Amino acid sequence: MTRIFTGHALAGRIHNDIREGITRLGRAPRCAVLIDEASAPMVAYASRQREAAAKLGIELAFASYERSPELARDQLRRLGEDPRLDAVMTLYPLPSGIAPVEAALLVGTDKDVDGLHPENAGLLALGAPGRTPATAHACRLAIGELAGSLRGAEITIVGASRIVGRPLATMLLDADATVTVCHVATRDLADHTRRADVVVSAAGVAGLIGAAHIRDGAILVDVSIIRTEAGLVGDVDLASVEGKASVVTHVPDGIGPITTACLFENVVAAAAQAGR
Ligand code: NAD
Repeated sequence: MTRIFTGHALAGRIHNDIREGITRLGRAPRCAVLIDEASAPMVAYASRQREAAAKLGIELAFASYERSPELARDQLRRLGEDPRLDAVMTLYPLPSGIAPVEAALLVGTDKDVDGLHPENAGLLALGAPGRTPATAHACRLAIGELAGSLRGAEITIVGASRIVGRPLATMLLDADATVTVCHVATRDLADHTRRADVVVSAAGVAGLIGAAHIRDGAILVDVSIIRTEAGLVGDVDLASVEGKASVVTHVPDGIGPITTACLFENVVAAAAQAGR
């Protein structure tokens, strides 16, 4: 039987670290969150963030993105310079014309909680401690929990984005795994995924990974969250892999809660570094 993994227990352990970090800090960390009010999924996500942050003692200050890219750039710069804030979170998609790295540069490395500022990305690439993209970090923690030692493990990542696949590949290499990264132009996806002990899928394509893509006993980490008429689904075709995969992470309660916890951990780290 295939086990379905939820991330609540792992997220709970990170929450304990966050609470300890806030106690040491002696005040609530403050983070601005920029959203697009016209995007219903973004507003729903932001309201779940607000609830989760309040339980941990983190203050989130929500604001809407300015309409024009020029004004949005000024807004990001101002928030980056605001001494009352420890961190700035920019929900995606960003206003058109602003790339994630530009947003991170405007906000500045100290308040970057997405790990996308070149300084934080560079620290990750060089194997030094820094703030890492929360989703990739969440996957790394879940894989550690599910697979144990990764030394020599074959891990295939489906999806090469800058917030998930690429930083995760770096983290897994640092754990001595053998890592393959696939993307939309990969010629024979199943050829790569079938070799893997662990398949991480972050393509955003419902039903992409089925029984023909995996070996017996494979661990499947499904990062994707796709809205369908039937509700939220991931990349893994659950009916197809049932009985063949050893574990599949739940969508959205697998990687999702761990990601939120990792993001808040970055907020607390930013506040601790700010030393206010
Ligand atoms: P993205 O669109 O930036 O990247 C998708 C990647 O998948 C690209 O590298 C693309 O080449 C690859 N891809 C697309 N179709 C493919 C196919 N048919 N075969 C192989 N590779 C394919 O997406 P992203 O921002 O990295 O997000 C990916 C998914 O993860 C989305 O569904 C998103 O909602 C979800 N997500 C979940 C969490 C979470 O906390 N669980 C956090 C962030 C993103």
